[in-house]
Amino acid sequence: MAMKTTYTGVYITIGVEQPYGKVLDSKDLYATARDLVAQIERHCDGVDYSEINFQTERVCEFCGSNWTEGNNEVYNGGCCAGDEKTVLENVG
Ligand SMILES: [Zn+2]
Repeated sequence: MAMKTTYTGVYITIGVEQPYGKVLDSKDLYATARDLVAQIERHCDGVDYSEINFQTERVCEFCGSNWTEGNNEVYNGGCCAGDEKTVLENVG
């Protein structure tokens, strides 16, 4: 007896292009992905379904530093003045 591997599902991953010289924000990336899905469904034969998958990262909204404080959604360890101001406002 020998093992035989067969494909039971085949998927295509398509990444959203970042235009040269321009950085799309989250809203623009998702909107572009929705447009691509609509185009794929309109123009491609043999597509069973299409879906949008995404990756996220957690950063400080003020300075863009990586979020280091676990599930704390208010304070990022004092990464910048905006972070410090926010925690002071929320502590009272
Ligand atoms: Zn910050």
